[in-house]
Amino acid sequence: MLHLDLPRIELGLLPTPIQELPRLSDALGRRILIKRDDQTGLALGGNKVRKLELLLGAARDHGANLLITCGAPQSNHCRQTAAAAARAGLRCVLVLQGGPPQGRNGNLLLDELLGASLVWSGERPPDEVMAEVAAREQASGARPYLIPYGGSSAVGVVGYVLAAAELAAQLELAASEAAPVIFLASSSGGTQAGLLLGQRLAGLRAEVRGISVLSPAAELRARVAALANEAARLLRVDGSSSEEDVLVDDRFLGAGYGIPGELEREAIRLFARTEGILLDPVYTARAAGGLIALLRRGEIAKGRDLLFWHTGGTPAVFAYADQL
Ligand SMILES: *Cc1c(COP(=O)(O)O)cnc(C)c1O
Repeated sequence: MLHLDLPRIELGLLPTPIQELPRLSDALGRRILIKRDDQTGLALGGNKVRKLELLLGAARDHGANLLITCGAPQSNHCRQTAAAAARAGLRCVLVLQGGPPQGRNGNLLLDELLGASLVWSGERPPDEVMAEVAAREQASGARPYLIPYGGSSAVGVVGYVLAAAELAAQLELAASEAAPVIFLASSSGGTQAGLLLGQRLAGLRAEVRGISVLSPAAELRARVAALANEAARLLRVDGSSSEEDVLVDDRFLGAGYGIPGELEREAIRLFARTEGILLDPVYTARAAGGLIALLRRGEIAKGRDLLFWHTGGTPAVFAYADQL
């Protein structure tokens, strides 16, 4: 098993529950379990909390007193980073794409309540603006720690290597038993990379299927494989992943990132009305909508349980109210 000697700061309420979804399973004709990473506990939860436990550990080791990261205006990652910074007593600067929208709602409201400073990147690449902010802060004596888009550095990915070990312990599968097929929303790729590497290290033999919310499959597969390999090197464990090991479906991108359509609207209602579970319009509703569509088309082989990994994001439903 994994001997983790990386620094880590506890932020989440872990392990998150696994639940049966009997009424949804009836509706879709297949047993479906859910892993509740929408309930990781920090400022309305989500998957970034697991990455941030390791990222904050690294930031503390670097002697940082400031976190800088970037994302879309309704970024869940930015909101969770702002909360983690507050918990650790660090300042936080968020570089958000574009310009300030009218009104503030959803994650953007929470960013401000959590005390983060916001910098709008306009038309420029957020990475470039982050580097500029970091240089300016450093010149005035701050010690910044930069967290990439989605928290997906090798360090962040380790949070999901640990999540796979958590899942393995919860399922207590006999070695002969078939592990579930895991479905999740995949964007910057760190969550999928960690689960891919982690389930292998845990001996789980699960299938990890990413539903892309942002990128064409080839691009995301390359990103996930590269991140899994960087994390394996960081942990000094064997097992390299190639792009062929990474399962990505990009057929549900619809009108693009952050633009919900009928697929997302139907998935949100179905989960809410059969199980009282809220999905978010950008990530989990697209992944759940993809899963529903694949089941209806008969594209998922029978015989293995399905596990939907809820990655959070629910504060965004308020910001998307008029599109739902
Ligand atoms: C960030 C995010 C994802 C995607 O995770 P990645 O590690 O970036 O692929 C999925 N769901 C939600 C709700 C997110 O905020």
